[in-house]
Amino acid sequence: MASESINQLHFLLIPLLAPGHTIPIIDIAKLLAQQPNVTVTIVTTPLNAIRYSPTLQEHINAGLPVRFLELPFPAAEAGLPEGCESADALPGLHLLPNFSVAVDMLQQRLEQRFDSLEPRPSCILSDKFMLWTADTAIKYQIPRIVFDGMSCFKQVCTHHLYASKVLDGLPDSEPFLLPGLPHQIEITRAQLPPEFNPSPFASPDHLERVRETESKSYGMVINSFEELEQEYVNELKKLKAGKVWCLGPLSLSNNDLGKSLRGNSTSIDEQHCLNWLDSQKPKSVIYSCFGSSSQVTPQQLIELGLGLEASKHPFIWVIRAGDKAKEINTWLSDNEFEERTKDRGIIIRDWAPQLLILSHPSVGAFLTHCGWNSILEGVSAGVPFLTWPQFAEQFLNEKLVVEVLRIGVSVGAEVIVNWGEEEKFGVTVKSEQVKKAIEKMMDDGVEGSERRKRVGLLRNAANKAIQDGGSSYRNLTLLIQDLRELAKIKSQ
Ligand code: UDP
Repeated sequence: MASESINQLHFLLIPLLAPGHTIPIIDIAKLLAQQPNVTVTIVTTPLNAIRYSPTLQEHINAGLPVRFLELPFPAAEAGLPEGCESADALPGLHLLPNFSVAVDMLQQRLEQRFDSLEPRPSCILSDKFMLWTADTAIKYQIPRIVFDGMSCFKQVCTHHLYASKVLDGLPDSEPFLLPGLPHQIEITRAQLPPEFNPSPFASPDHLERVRETESKSYGMVINSFEELEQEYVNELKKLKAGKVWCLGPLSLSNNDLGKSLRGNSTSIDEQHCLNWLDSQKPKSVIYSCFGSSSQVTPQQLIELGLGLEASKHPFIWVIRAGDKAKEINTWLSDNEFEERTKDRGIIIRDWAPQLLILSHPSVGAFLTHCGWNSILEGVSAGVPFLTWPQFAEQFLNEKLVVEVLRIGVSVGAEVIVNWGEEEKFGVTVKSEQVKKAIEKMMDDGVEGSERRKRVGLLRNAANKAIQDGGSSYRNLTLLIQDLRELAKIKSQ
């Protein structure tokens, strides 16, 4: 094989079809495509290509070798309404099993196109939940690198929880120390991710398959940076024979245009939002957003809104209420909430330009559900957190933010509210708790200013990590070198 073609790497990037998983993979695509002799193909479906192409267009126009491969999505065949090509477009979570069936059918559609891809793909980089990509990688004898949309801290916690017997016979609400960590962190089983705490949409068999395919993968790309969680990065590298590459914070790969075009068209006039932020005092605004998939009930949203109001601080409140939107809108208008708070609050219904908002100097705190992308985006902007985890690994993210990094204040949620079972859990956080946490966060005393100082230092470290010579920049180079060496060995 000519040395030129060994040098040429072609990454097939295969994201899970949900915004919190696709957005960071698109950012990875941009990073990779800027490297010499690297071609990137993002495998997705027609509607997702339309949704995410604005953020990539600039790079395509600049002649970078990055493109979408659109595989028709078998919605009807899987019993889904037309147009449901992303988890957040499903009319109800009862359709998630159908969605998984449709996602699995993409394997055959990709394999039918595989041999026509130029240059021949040298590597699959796929979301860890895209299980079939493991078989495709074996079939075409190329390495599969897993993108794990979570932190190294979460990976290490999970490893030790599997390895220890600490959960045997332990009641759900009894606090225990997370085993094997360099920090002393207490948690309860009711706060753990679905691997250890059953959830209706994560079957144990499926999770076991994720674990098994992940353990057989060539390596792992993580949206994090070494300076953020160095001890945990080191530990994870030991567990994965060194094949761990932290490339983040991925959101920092965006310029201003990329920041505003990320993931969806926004539900507010951006200029109006920025003008409003310009009119507020520095570090005074609470930005509240619970990501792309949390389904907070109207009753719980009301408590959140009342807490924001009672805090007397200016706020931007993002409300994604899905099929409950009518209910919450009725409450907002019947109670004249917007009228009462119009001088110091903005409500964004559905999708906010999160990166633009977080990078505005008026934002003083981020009230978050602790999705990992949101955490990194807040860190990158130097904004401290009010933490209100909902499900998945979000309580572990809260522990990292509040107890390890000490850049957050918890509102005091105690149990995971399972995705799809929100009504069953009712109200788990009262408005008074929200108000108190905001007051603690916004206090000008020593604790508050130390917290701000720490998150400011992390922001600087994050921005340095992605620059030439920084840790994430170096990891990107190392990842590419590693794959080139592998290709060379295979060709001998
Ligand atoms: N996001 C956004 N506007 C919104 C909601 C979410 O831009 O109104 C973006 C956010 O910036 C982040 C992603 O969507 O990149 C959400 O990912 P995260 O891991 O925080 O949460 P998830 O949606 O996966 O629960």
